[in-house]
Amino acid sequence: MRKCFISYKKEDIHYKNYLINKLGSESFIDKSLDRTIESDNGDYVMQVIREEYLADSTVTIFIIGEHSSEKEGYDNMGDKNYFIKRELKASLHNGEGNTRNGILGVVLPSMYDKIYKGQYYCRTCGNQHNYVDINDDTVIREFSANYYLKPHNGCSWSEEERYCVLVKWDDFINNPESYIEVAFKKRESNLKDKVRIRNLR
Ligand SMILES: [Zn+2]
Repeated sequence: MRKCFISYKKEDIHYKNYLINKLGSESFIDKSLDRTIESDNGDYVMQVIREEYLADSTVTIFIIGEHSSEKEGYDNMGDKNYFIKRELKASLHNGEGNTRNGILGVVLPSMYDKIYKGQYYCRTCGNQHNYVDINDDTVIREFSANYYLKPHNGCSWSEEERYCVLVKWDDFINNPESYIEVAFKKRESNLKDKVRIRNLR
């Protein structure tokens, strides 16, 4: 299996532990970003996170729960999602000798209704499309911007047009390695020029 890093909120830690117990600790980097790295050099910050935390992982599993969205991230104490944003950003960073990870978003059951909204009829092409709510209400932008890559033509995105891969928890745990492999293969796809990385301080 590919070596994975897991980006999660502490409220969802039992899902992280479940994965490591089920799939074996040798398949994971069991670490989380736990400090701020003070530097004005963004590339340096990404390099430190990659080397010290992501290490030799090639896929980042992003656990999508109730606390990992752009909007949930802010309160009067500041940005509560500081760490997962930088874990995802460093995962997307294509460093020298430490290349970009594939990104696999795993939707927890408590988020199914919020993200999977059924199908709708498209007036543009006359087909049915899945209504999948990946936006600031459900995820951080490091994920949504690379799930709906732009520029984009047409009315819907095919799987080949996305860098991030999305799966429900129940589907994922039935066949984890196959989904991890799909995310891994995105690293070699021709989407690399479309990957977007937010400028975070
Ligand atoms: Zn359409």
